[in-house]
Amino acid sequence: MTNNEYDLIVIGAGSTAAGNAAGLGKRVALIERDKLGGTCLNYGCDPTKTLLHTASVLYHARHASALGLCIPQAEADWVAEWSASLWPWKSFRFIWQLTMKKQSVLKDVWQK
Ligand SMILES: Cc1cc2nc3c(=O)[nH]c(=O)nc-3n(C[C@H](O)[C@H](O)[C@H](O)COP(=O)(O)OP(=O)(O)OC[C@H]3O[C@@H](n4cnc5c(N)ncnc54)[C@H](O)[C@@H]3O)c2cc1C
Repeated sequence: MTNNEYDLIVIGAGSTAAGNAAGLGKRVALIERDKLGGTCLNYGCDPTKTLLHTASVLYHARHASALGLCIPQAEADWVAEWSASLWPWKSFRFIWQLTMKKQSVLKDVWQK
């Protein structure tokens, strides 16, 4: 990295600061130690809501008799659920990555 190569260096790829700055024509370097997308995309908002929805479906399946439905064994396989729920975040991360790339941020991303 030579002097004056960047207008801004953003540490952490969670917020849209890097994208916004790049959108304003700034030369941005983005440094991330874990996963692109930060807490919200990878651990917080989105995965949490997937788990809540899964729990809600399980609850309704177990109480389906109230609606005249017979679902004899509604069980949770959380390991399978969790691995199945991983693919959307991978896709979102990929889309996020493309967006950043389009804004010329990702040519210089440092990521694990
Ligand atoms: C369980 C849970 C549920 C949530 N649900 C919601 C919700 O429904 N709605 C909502 O609005 N908000 C929700 N949030 C809050 C939301 O996730 C945060 O407000 C948001 O992620 C903050 O964004 P950020 O960019 O400031 O930080 P982060 O998303 O945490 O991003 C920071 C990034 O910086 C990286 N980093 C940190 N230090 C360094 C370093 N030294 N070098 C390199 N990289 C570094 C981290 O790895 C991380 O990727 C939830 C949070 C949690 C935990």
